[in-house]
Amino acid sequence: MRYSGFRVIKEALTGHKGWKPVWREPDPKPHYDVIIIGGGGHGLATAHYLSKVYGQRNVAVVEKGWIGGGNVGRNTTIVRSNYMLDGNEPFYEFSLKLWEGLEQDVNYNAMMSQRGIINLFHTDGQRDAYTRRGNAMILNGADAELLDADQVRAEHPYLNFDDARFPIKGGLVQRRAGTARHDAVAWGYARSADLHGVDIIQNCEVTGLRIENGTCLGVETSKGFIGASKVGCAVAGNSGRVMGMAGMRLPIESHVLQAFVSEGLKPVLPSVITFGAGHFYVSQSDKGGLVFGGDIDGYNTYAQRGNLPVVEDVCEGGMALMPMIGRARLLRMWGGVMDMSMDGSPIIDRTPVQGLYFNGGWCYGGFKATPASGYCFAHLLAKDEPHPVATAYRLDRFRTGRMIDEKGAGNQPNLH
Ligand SMILES: Cc1cc2nc3c(=O)[nH]c(=O)nc-3n(C[C@H](O)[C@H](O)[C@H](O)COP(=O)(O)OP(=O)(O)OC[C@H]3O[C@@H](n4cnc5c(N)ncnc54)[C@H](O)[C@@H]3O)c2cc1C
Repeated sequence: MRYSGFRVIKEALTGHKGWKPVWREPDPKPHYDVIIIGGGGHGLATAHYLSKVYGQRNVAVVEKGWIGGGNVGRNTTIVRSNYMLDGNEPFYEFSLKLWEGLEQDVNYNAMMSQRGIINLFHTDGQRDAYTRRGNAMILNGADAELLDADQVRAEHPYLNFDDARFPIKGGLVQRRAGTARHDAVAWGYARSADLHGVDIIQNCEVTGLRIENGTCLGVETSKGFIGASKVGCAVAGNSGRVMGMAGMRLPIESHVLQAFVSEGLKPVLPSVITFGAGHFYVSQSDKGGLVFGGDIDGYNTYAQRGNLPVVEDVCEGGMALMPMIGRARLLRMWGGVMDMSMDGSPIIDRTPVQGLYFNGGWCYGGFKATPASGYCFAHLLAKDEPHPVATAYRLDRFRTGRMIDEKGAGNQPNLH
């Protein structure tokens, strides 16, 4: 079934009886060419591109819970490509270009809204750093614009300019950045993958990896053993756990990141805003809620809920940036488990185990990466070589010292 405006009108006039389930609920087959562990954004995007672009149809996505129940349905929905380093910027710009055509590609409304992002700066040194980043973006084919304080005030008059502890000196803007409806992204990719023959197997936890003579033969699951020629792991915050089943210790820590939504307000924020003097970012959802977040909780955990000190810290950041947020009531908050890599950049690579591939280390920036991550992981699984925009995301860079440390912060997850 194709979705269209005509279909919506037809269904509205005929009692909505013609809609079909968005994906099937198949039983696992004994063997697949490729099994992807994890039905989050990255796993489902991988299945979509593997089947649609690389023509592989004997593919399964194995998800321990339900589609969209992980970080893909828990994030603050920001998509952007405002990176600086060579290892990162071409990848994230490729991702943003895929976002721009995503809804047509998967025939699903992901509510992609290119409302822009502004990164505020508060010191002269920060202005220099943002100028350098903007130039690197432009050299890689992305868009970037530097605004001075008056230009920022004209676009965002509600920010605290006059008596701020950290005066706003300007901002780096990317107009093509914005937000997308996070769980619709998962559903869109799932639907498209299913249409191309991929089996999406929910409520099926991978409990072990069957490895013989250095080769991965398939996955042990709560629904029994499923054989595979290749197994790709895309489980975000559970990366350490699942790769531990292959005896691997990753350069990744799991931390919780919280998100917050206020009651619905009339349109007030025209774009995504990040505070440069603290860790705070905010946008407004199409329903009117202010969607915001800040730092990770500073301890290792697999729990999907956070602690009050970070709530206080995030609200302090919001109040310092835009005091009017103090008048809004907080409606909901939740947490997701982040796979924080030691240089803040991801991994898309083969592993020392034949037939076992890994995708992870997305930290708190993996939502924007979803299309490119899926595309590049599919490329790796299909061709056994890295996609040209993902060549830097090697697992062995932590051994060889070729870090992609975007912020120059070193191996401290809370600073990435
Ligand atoms: C609060 C919050 C805010 C964020 N904000 C942003 C943002 O604004 N912009 C941005 O770019 N990124 C953001 N992120 C990060 C982004 O959401 C993640 O990096 C990205 O979603 C991770 O990839 P994923 O979608 O595949 O993960 P997930 O959706 O978590 O998918 C992994 C899946 O693996 C499954 N799984 C785990 N173990 C097993 C197993 N043993 N067997 C089978 N299945 C298993 C899980 O159930 C899960 O569904 C945010 C994250 C959080 C939590």
